[in-house]
Amino acid sequence: MSADERARMVERQLRRRGIADERVLAAMQRVPRELFVPPELRDAAYADAALPIGDEQTISQPYMVALICEQLALRGGERVLDVGTGSGYQAAVLAELADEVHAVERIPELAGQARANLAAAGYEDRVRLHVGDGTLGIPECAPFAAIAVAAAALEAPPALYEQLEPRGRLVVPVGGAGGQWLEVVVRTPEGPAVVRTVPCRFVPLVAGR
Ligand code: SAH
Repeated sequence: MSADERARMVERQLRRRGIADERVLAAMQRVPRELFVPPELRDAAYADAALPIGDEQTISQPYMVALICEQLALRGGERVLDVGTGSGYQAAVLAELADEVHAVERIPELAGQARANLAAAGYEDRVRLHVGDGTLGIPECAPFAAIAVAAAALEAPPALYEQLEPRGRLVVPVGGAGGQWLEVVVRTPEGPAVVRTVPCRFVPLVAGR
């Protein structure tokens, strides 16, 4: 049963590896990940891995989704942005943690899939999906308390930093072929406060259309 598989995932892949935010663990326990993977990969939905979703893109590993959410330090009530929506899974987890979720995906076919997945899982009213270049953010919906980026950039996109609220947090994988780090960037009166957290491997963030 998928709820049992989910409970095992939360215990073994998340809690044991140090994810401690109970709201994040509860959100990961609630979102049915099997509805966000291609039908032929349903049996692998709770594997400790990223999985292919088409167009050379992947649904992120559960641990990375949880880690990004934990680093965003959400308490409920926030407006947030999910950049690189892919399957829609991270957007659904964010919808469990915040109040208003905007999500942006550049590949229209994947955005269509994400829309269908989010509807199948019951999140269609809680996530507003945009199609376009997420490196530009969504200026008309800014500012955001938190922004999650699920694709790697050579540097944190300046437009995303500009769309953060004061003390807002941006989590973004930064780096190229030589390796990437997950960075947490906090907007402060003195400018960006950047902390490198863990090494990671994400598909590239592609600017432009
Ligand atoms: N959070 C997603 C991860 C999908 S992989 C999930 O768990 O399913 C990253 C996604 O970022 C891909 O779908 C890719 O098409 C998208 N992407 C890459 N560059 C982008 C950009 N500039 N704007 C929006 N989406 C982008």
